[in-house]
Amino acid sequence: MKKNIVIAIDGYSSCGKSTLAKALAQKLNYIYIDSGAMYRAVTLFFLRQGIDLSSHAAISNALQHIDIDFHSRDYQSHVLLNGEEVSEEIRQMPVSQKVSEIAAIKEVRQCMVKQQQKMGKQKNIVMDGRDIGTTVFPDAYLKLFMTADPKTRAERRYKELQAKGENVSLEAVFDNLAHRDFQDTTREVSPLVRATDAVILDNTNLNQDEQLAFTMAYLPVI
Ligand code: C5P
Repeated sequence: MKKNIVIAIDGYSSCGKSTLAKALAQKLNYIYIDSGAMYRAVTLFFLRQGIDLSSHAAISNALQHIDIDFHSRDYQSHVLLNGEEVSEEIRQMPVSQKVSEIAAIKEVRQCMVKQQQKMGKQKNIVMDGRDIGTTVFPDAYLKLFMTADPKTRAERRYKELQAKGENVSLEAVFDNLAHRDFQDTTREVSPLVRATDAVILDNTNLNQDEQLAFTMAYLPVI
């Protein structure tokens, strides 16, 4: 049986992973999966339900009541949490401030990784996140590790949030990215680290076409 092709894109927060992943998926006619959105949806559920993060039983029980689904329209992924569209809410600051803490919980990661691996068995996919090339798909066809200057990242994210009408300062955005990077790189389970066979893509000074061209050069036979 023909094996599905997986392209794994990992890297720091707000490096432009999802923009590149969407463009690649569109070009190759693959499915784009935003694994960060899954951790964000879990976080929203935990916040709404007031889950006690010190209780393994409460966490495991809550995870059984979470159904996350993606609806892809125009290569924009819409995230459904138990049938409710939450794409906007999961990008807002209350979730951003809590997501890395919740994503560090072993039970949460096990549950998400299992679902992600299942998605990779069904279709050719481009998946972005923090542990895709290291843990979820260690045999991915191509692994990219994205990075960019922290100031540039914060400015991009700030502009995106402003455009959506969210009232937040550049400083708060910068601090949130730094905090998440710290938590993501230092956690015990599947920390953010470059897979030894991942290609580094620093997009501080690259526009979207240049990032896509850089990546396509590694995909000559697809
Ligand atoms: O990609 P995004 O910034 O939306 O991800 C939100 C958070 O989810 C990250 O800061 C990280 O804590 C967590 N995450 C993760 N593993 C992934 C994807 C995201 O731990 N594969």
